[in-house]
Amino acid sequence: METCEMCGMPIKGRPYKAVVDGAEMILCQRCYNKLVKSGRATPVYERKVVQVKKKVERFEGQLELQEGFGEIVKKGRESRGWTQQTLAQKLRISESMLKKIEQEKMKPSINLAKKIEQLLKVRILQPVEYEEMEEGPFHDKVTFGDVVVIRRDED
Ligand SMILES: [Zn+2]
Repeated sequence: METCEMCGMPIKGRPYKAVVDGAEMILCQRCYNKLVKSGRATPVYERKVVQVKKKVERFEGQLELQEGFGEIVKKGRESRGWTQQTLAQKLRISESMLKKIEQEKMKPSINLAKKIEQLLKVRILQPVEYEEMEEGPFHDKVTFGDVVVIRRDED
């Protein structure tokens, strides 16, 4: 069992590492808390950087609206010389709803978007791409007092 370099007592539980008066010391929790609180000790953070994890997965069949879908709908409609009323009628939706879709104030359902694509021969849907990213120093994610971990093979 390790002993606290401050009070000399055996460390029960987890040892804490901190810089006390310029020197790195292994402390019991009690001394650690006391010294850090008083400002005499600076915690030593384990600089374990979580590896950047980038995961991109494609889910076949899952679709989402493309960015700028409103503009695509508008241009597709105009290139056919259709008014909003005409297209709305073909889609069996209200003109105001189509207006909102073109202004991207409203997102059409996937089914409606598919109908729009068929009618206008445009593409406003794209496969969903999930992107998950995790990065940054380990100590950003743990709470104060919890950050000091000593590996016994270090000493
Ligand atoms: Zn101690």
